Amino acid sequence: MKDITKKYTNGEVTIVWKPNECIHSAICFKGLGDVFDPKKRPWITPEESSTERIIEQIKKCPSGALSYYLNRDESDGKIALEAETIVETSLNGPLLVYGMLP
Ligand code: SF4
Repeated sequence: MKDITKKYTNGEVTIVWKPNECIHSAICFKGLGDVFDPKKRPWITPEESSTERIIEQIKKCPSGALSYYLNRDESDGKIALEAETIVETSLNGPLLVYGMLP
């Protein structure tokens, strides 16, 4: 059987669904029908709820067909820093460093 993975995001969290692992328990759409609705296409619409609520519901999936990741994790937690970094030297003194340093 072909391994199929589908992804749906609200910009903050990405829902990962593996249809071959779904056992059709209906727990997702009984628990959070705004996001999981098998009558709609696409059947998963994460923009209809909060990230916290979606994660709470995904954790109840009994088969592991549903999983998620936070989009900020995908970028390896790196945050774009736009601020300038300035290093000042002083005679026999410390280096003074200004800016946004991770
Ligand atoms: S909760 Fe999981 S196993 Fe149940 S219908 Fe939804 S995706 Fe399928």
